[in-house]
Amino acid sequence: MRLFTATLATETNSFAPIPTARASFEEAFYAPPGTHPAAPNLCSAPLVVARRRAQAEGWTLIEGSCAWAEPAGTCTRQAYEGLRDEILGQLEAALPLDGVLLGLHGAMVAEGYEDCEGDLIARVRALVGPKAIIGVEHDPHCHLTQKRLEHCNLLITFKEFPHTDSVERAEEVVELTLRAIKGEIDPVMSCVDCRTIASFPTTREPMRSFVDRVKALEGRGGVLSISIVHGFPYADVPDVGARILVVADGAKAEGDALAMALARELNELRGRTAPDYLDPDAAIDAALALPLGKPVVITDPSDNPGGGAAGDSTQVLSRLLARGIEHVAFAPLWDPVAVRLCFLAGEGARLPLRLGGKTAPSSGVPLDVEAEVVRLVADATQSFAGGTMALGDAALIRVGGMEIVLISKRTQSLGRDLFTGFGVELEAKRIVALKSTNHFHAAFAPIAQAVLYTDGGGPIPRDVTKVPYTRVQRPIWPLDAVAEPIVVL
Ligand SMILES: [Zn+2]
Repeated sequence: MRLFTATLATETNSFAPIPTARASFEEAFYAPPGTHPAAPNLCSAPLVVARRRAQAEGWTLIEGSCAWAEPAGTCTRQAYEGLRDEILGQLEAALPLDGVLLGLHGAMVAEGYEDCEGDLIARVRALVGPKAIIGVEHDPHCHLTQKRLEHCNLLITFKEFPHTDSVERAEEVVELTLRAIKGEIDPVMSCVDCRTIASFPTTREPMRSFVDRVKALEGRGGVLSISIVHGFPYADVPDVGARILVVADGAKAEGDALAMALARELNELRGRTAPDYLDPDAAIDAALALPLGKPVVITDPSDNPGGGAAGDSTQVLSRLLARGIEHVAFAPLWDPVAVRLCFLAGEGARLPLRLGGKTAPSSGVPLDVEAEVVRLVADATQSFAGGTMALGDAALIRVGGMEIVLISKRTQSLGRDLFTGFGVELEAKRIVALKSTNHFHAAFAPIAQAVLYTDGGGPIPRDVTKVPYTRVQRPIWPLDAVAEPIVVL
């Protein structure tokens, strides 16, 4: 038995100004054949799981390239076509194959390609032929197009947001693909488009109970897998939005009925799945109204680099500084120039710094401060879901009563070592201010007395009716008051 695996992943915010180029992948995560580390990147878990299974069970795994770029703007044509053709060339050289395992984020948009994953999966199918089994893992923040589903045999998305279950879901993709190759199961997919754009954190109700209910339906009555596709709202493509995808064992009619029932159930939760987003001053007021003791976390998803934002917006930082609040920790702020100046000045130095506000009008205005350089770390990292994420060279500065972590590689707030790696004692802080939508939650909620969400006016508006869509299919909630689910497959 011979299987091939590869990963091509990024989440394209087509409204964001930062281009995604070949270098964006090489700087973030790029592992050509034979170089993939033992620990997976968020989207390369199928390779790591399949490697372990192949070694234990004595079948052949051919490892192709794995590439992941920090979310940003539209991919260049050269970047997408280059990485795609690299993977297809490796796959062609590996033929004949019984199966293919693809780790794809699912929201990649490139110049000339609204559906990169659909294009890639269709080309893989053309090479391997109709009998090979193609199993795909997606991030739930994807655009699940009909084209992808028509050319693969089974597709599974992570269930948790924050995405703490990418390896668990990869184990399912690998297991079901192997069983299908052996003829033990006959996976058939049913997909319903909810016609809904929303955010669905699974750390809070009502999504927590919905995910748990869906999990309890799996493995019974021929249901092999159910994916709740959140969709990624910040791309101007026709297939934006939430879907339900059921993989059943030969039972298409039962899968269709279940997918439609769950889509209607998800739509019942419209308007209740995301937290309230306060304006920055209201969030600060709410934090200060809480008793001293444990820190209050304030996160600003509107400038989350994990959603393609620059991570250099100053709207929340400027309010915290202007109000002179003591015992505040803030991270990260993406500002490679300020980091460089701090490295030139050295630890202990005091210097004038101009912070952030660089990339676009939504980044706000730069802030001029007098800073003390507290700690410098070359090639700093933070931890997330068992792996590490690069921060690049990074500096901890003190401005008044605030400690601020400046980074030179764009990333969101993920692990507490984003602060503690620089000697910041989080327990002693009144406010811990972050840039993240929900991936921060697993690390930071346990130390916080409260988690507050703000919309700092960055480039990822929490109110999606403010997103300037031109390509999205209508009607879709909340752009349209009435939008009923429709069958995709
Ligand atoms: Zn995601």
